[in-house]
Amino acid sequence: MKKILFITLFLNTFILANINAVVSILPEQTFVKAIGGDKVNVSLMVLPGNSPHTYEPKPSQMKNVAKAQLYFAIGVEFENVWLDKFESLNKNMQVIDLTEGIEKRAIASHADHDHGSHTKEEGTGKDPHIWTDPENVKIISLHIYETLMHIDPDNKAYYKSNYEKFIALINHTDKQIKQILSQTAKGTKFMVFHPSWGYFAKAYGLEQLAVEIEGKSPKPQELIGLMKEAKEEKITVIFTQPEFSDSVAKVMANELNIKVIKVSPLTADWSKNLITIANSIAGK
Ligand code: ZN
Repeated sequence: MKKILFITLFLNTFILANINAVVSILPEQTFVKAIGGDKVNVSLMVLPGNSPHTYEPKPSQMKNVAKAQLYFAIGVEFENVWLDKFESLNKNMQVIDLTEGIEKRAIASHADHDHGSHTKEEGTGKDPHIWTDPENVKIISLHIYETLMHIDPDNKAYYKSNYEKFIALINHTDKQIKQILSQTAKGTKFMVFHPSWGYFAKAYGLEQLAVEIEGKSPKPQELIGLMKEAKEEKITVIFTQPEFSDSVAKVMANELNIKVIKVSPLTADWSKNLITIANSIAGK
């Protein structure tokens, strides 16, 4: 009896041992699962409904960090505060920078647009929402594939095949978005509460106008400026996301008689998500 128990434990430990990985946001979980398949246990840091700009890990999540071999960092804001703590908690954990090789754009800034009262320089930082551009997701996927292949060379062929399938899905998504937007004029502007879609906009020749200013809701005076801008630009929809309040967007939409569409850049179904936003912008 004892012998059987011992063998079972032995098999569990050595044959079924998966790679333990931690990711910051839900789309990353999708990417790592797509490539790592059943060889990788992925635990998620920023739980659904929370903002990756301000997240604070729970004690149970620190336990996941303590037993992880890999942390896939994607450059979201809470990592600036927490990555050092994660690394000192688990010195054997390898931190992979998924943003390597991705050119970051400046964060959406109202100073870019010449509309009256906003003259001071706003938001000098870099935009962290890189995963809304399929080309960036290809770079991210290559980092994930190379990392898994190095840490677990026995399963290289498995990871390679998954990686190739995922690249095909990315290409298919990109093709669908281009098709959806084929009748949409270049430079079409869309309004968002939180500026999460800058890379998506750039990739498809669109422009994102943010309601949020320096991470805050606009002041009454700024709101008047934004309404004027939305009218001038013939904005037909304001995108909000569940991680942030949509009260300001609702006020604007009521006044302008346009739609508010709630769509999160942080959902698991990355491909469907981009297609949804493309359809909304195209008025489909
Ligand atoms: Zn954000």
